[in-house]
Amino acid sequence: MNIDWKNLGFGISETDYNVRCYYRDGKWGELEISSSNQITMHMAATCLHYGQESFEGLKAYRGSDNRIRLFRYDENAKRMKRSSQGILLAEVPQSIFQGAVEKAVKLNERFIPPHGTGASLYVRPLLIGTGAEVGVKPAKEFLFIVFVMPVGPYFKAGFKPVDIMITREHDRAAPKGTGHLKVGGNYAASMTSVAKAHKEGYATALYLDAKEKKYIDECGPANFFAIKNNTYITPESHSILPSITNMSLMKLAEDMGMKVERRPIAVEELEDFEEVGACGTAAVITPIGKIVDSDVGKTYKFVEGDTPGKISKKLYERLIGIQYGDIEDKFGWITILD
Ligand SMILES: *Cc1c(COP(=O)(O)O)cnc(C)c1O
Repeated sequence: MNIDWKNLGFGISETDYNVRCYYRDGKWGELEISSSNQITMHMAATCLHYGQESFEGLKAYRGSDNRIRLFRYDENAKRMKRSSQGILLAEVPQSIFQGAVEKAVKLNERFIPPHGTGASLYVRPLLIGTGAEVGVKPAKEFLFIVFVMPVGPYFKAGFKPVDIMITREHDRAAPKGTGHLKVGGNYAASMTSVAKAHKEGYATALYLDAKEKKYIDECGPANFFAIKNNTYITPESHSILPSITNMSLMKLAEDMGMKVERRPIAVEELEDFEEVGACGTAAVITPIGKIVDSDVGKTYKFVEGDTPGKISKKLYERLIGIQYGDIEDKFGWITILD
């Protein structure tokens, strides 16, 4: 096997095995190991027509002691449960979820990048309605799969500020819709605005609250945070996906002696922020240099050039330090797989 760990991107690649579990006749079966990257299902499966699907994303890291670390995957299991309740998928029990993740990581151990490369093994749990229905109703059969692939840092340029644009043309989620659930439908709804942002040279789109277009919601695939007066501020809204990275950063900020505020953030407040960033599993923190609100002809600037803000950098280093086992895990976030 010959992988150029240092130049890995964030793209699809094949590994040896994936782990599957089927829900039939009202119950979950045993975990099954597969070496195929294909699935077969009825063409009327509810995931295909009615978006009955949920996914998760987490990473396995190799420490300098060579041991494999998983970060807060009990939280991913809980979140998938909430997504399931939200769109009527069969709930995957915590033990099946965690067991499948552990198995998929262990079986593909040779694909976990060495410590020090900045790369990791991305773990993608997926839950889909496979039962055939033609009327709009939940499936009676489901498939839960966990597959993995080695990935480099999300942004190849490394920990450097990017520019993003506010989108007023589209919303990714309705005020009482499914924005707080990790479901594919939200991503389908975000494709046009994220593609438009890319086309115009921005890293991603920033959504405002769908009702009043007054407050900041989140980026396409990542939460939003800001730093001001030694305070970590992140939006509170029903249509934001509760990010495990954001939750962890709030804890770290508190631990660093900062104040933490979770509240609606009006767009005009951007004027006063010292640092802003996006956060999520893929990139941990993406510092933001500039936010362009072209509909009202405004640009908010935060940092100049390639130097991220000091606090964002500190938070980033702490969190990846814990994930890779270089910094003591005093919060009990890490599970070592032996
Ligand atoms: C997954 C996701 C995030 C990031 O969540 P993490 O748990 O930190 O990876 C943020 N926003 C959306 C819309 C997401 O789907």
